[in-house]
Amino acid sequence: MAATAAGRLQGDQCERDWIWEREIETAPWEETRRLSVAAWERQYRRIRESSPFYARKWREAGVGASFVSLGDLSQLPFTTKQDLKEAIDETPPFGSNLCVSPDQVKRVYQTSGTSGVPSVLALTRGDMETWTIMGTRTYYATGIHEHSSVLTTFGAGPFVAGHTHFVLLRIGTRSVPVAPGDTERVIFGLRAGLADTLLSTASFAQYLANRLEKTDERTPAQLTHVVTGGEPGGGIPTIRDHIQRVLGVTVTEVMGIGDVAPSLFGECPLQQGMHFCGAGHVWVELVDPESREPMEIETGAVGELAYTALTREAMPVVRFLGGDIVRIEGTSCECGRTTFRQRVIGRRDDMFIARGANIYPSAILAIVGDFRPRVTGRARVVRKGPETSIEPPIPIEVEVADSGQPDPGLAAEIESAVHSRLLFRSRVELIPESDFGAAGYKTRLTRNDPSTHRGEG
Ligand SMILES: [Zn+2]
Repeated sequence: MAATAAGRLQGDQCERDWIWEREIETAPWEETRRLSVAAWERQYRRIRESSPFYARKWREAGVGASFVSLGDLSQLPFTTKQDLKEAIDETPPFGSNLCVSPDQVKRVYQTSGTSGVPSVLALTRGDMETWTIMGTRTYYATGIHEHSSVLTTFGAGPFVAGHTHFVLLRIGTRSVPVAPGDTERVIFGLRAGLADTLLSTASFAQYLANRLEKTDERTPAQLTHVVTGGEPGGGIPTIRDHIQRVLGVTVTEVMGIGDVAPSLFGECPLQQGMHFCGAGHVWVELVDPESREPMEIETGAVGELAYTALTREAMPVVRFLGGDIVRIEGTSCECGRTTFRQRVIGRRDDMFIARGANIYPSAILAIVGDFRPRVTGRARVVRKGPETSIEPPIPIEVEVADSGQPDPGLAAEIESAVHSRLLFRSRVELIPESDFGAAGYKTRLTRNDPSTHRGEG
């Protein structure tokens, strides 16, 4: 491979630099830090003066009146999703953390809300631009260039993923928007050759691969690149390999956090984990998932990411715990970017403890994927209550094709594979596609079942 091709998708012959903001994305760590230190000084003063939410939070945590530098950030308390929800409830509609006057709010997204009650995200014109900058670095990093034709199923709103349309416009791609969940139109668009790139959840890409494999339908020849987001599947080898093989594409993944930026991490075509793309605008810390003590961002480290908005105007967050547990894959890359790379291991909420070991459901997905084509690749853990520690056998639901023949030995074989690799017993239940839930959206890796027992007869 020629040196100039290190950051490009296979077959991409374009002349354009494969790094959107080379100066920032390849800067030595010290320079990024210096930029961030300066941004934080301004941001700290602004938050202190204009956010009643943080002013009180910091006072309650015993933070004095003096400046807290970026290096001493761990003196400030973490912010959780629950904190932000309370801030909204306190002063609706934008909350007690709105740091600008309401007439400066120029765009409002909504979140689905964990308890079913939506929450809002307010942006100033400047915030929209900042999100677009970070998103452009992110999607450009995956190999999407001006000459790409991109089919997306993201609506314009209410969710933050809709911001991606601004990003695609900035890169200058051809954009082919399709309504969320309109599977047939996605397939039509790809067959018709309208797009060479698909942005979707990993679940949807998997669904597409299963469907084309099963029915011998023609694979859309022009499709060369699938970018997955919204859930960790695209980074799990068995899932990724299957999508790549059946669709004949390169799979890269992206990730964002609604309260921070909808696109913040993008994987380059070298497929070694997602590069951090928020340098200068977002400060990231890695913290121990149990003790919450700061950890070094170094290859192999596993922890939870905490985010601080350095330039956000309307609703800045400080030390926001995003709930994702990640593994740091490296701090440099052959593509030239110097930003760290990570892969999501799982959601903190989805973690459970079996026989003393921390388990993320993505580890189960990786095992279940080996049983394809007897399974579709989707699976989830059934939780009976809020306890983190679960007594084996762990109930697991595994999706199988509706039209499949009965496969009597399958459940036992999966149970045995889980036992030999993760060292706990499980009870596998095979669920037909039609009962498992729509594949177009994110698949929750955990299903909460408050009933004591599911009937087996
Ligand atoms: Zn790279």
